Amino acid sequence: MNITATHINYYHICKRKLWLFSHHITMEHTSDTVYEGKLIGEHSYPYRSEKYTELELDGIKIDYFDAKNGIIHETKKSDSVEQAHIAQVKYYLYVLQKNGISAHKGIIEYPKLRKTEQVILTEEDTQSIENQLVEIQQILENETCPPKIQKSFCKSCSYFEFCWGD
Ligand code: SF4
Repeated sequence: MNITATHINYYHICKRKLWLFSHHITMEHTSDTVYEGKLIGEHSYPYRSEKYTELELDGIKIDYFDAKNGIIHETKKSDSVEQAHIAQVKYYLYVLQKNGISAHKGIIEYPKLRKTEQVILTEEDTQSIENQLVEIQQILENETCPPKIQKSFCKSCSYFEFCWGD
């Protein structure tokens, strides 16, 4: 299976979420959280799309790539900086560099927090991503769904009812 940035993101959130998503048990389209996130991405920076390039390759889709300066711009609606966001942008950098595209930095913007997070890819990150890809593949090939984890972010997860409903 082609590993996408969504797989990487879910890997860092919850292995069960990763497995469910990979087995096409998707509920994201009904999630208000995802819808709100899309709206924030589309409306927070209305003039950006004219300035930057949209890029899609090898399972990643970058909405705003500054090709001239090699900078990825990502917008998150979250009200906290999350490890999964940083991992996702590191993966973008990894895929671009693997494809010979000059990209040396990511900037994650959090409109709700009025904050930005800078992301770079180190050699250790590259090695870590390659290990993650192997582990993700193993999780996906497993016939059994990983167990539930009780975390605060379950409440905003699209699988909340699936995991914790009656
Ligand atoms: S609700 Fe919690 S346990 Fe279930 S998939 Fe989402 S994050 Fe994982």
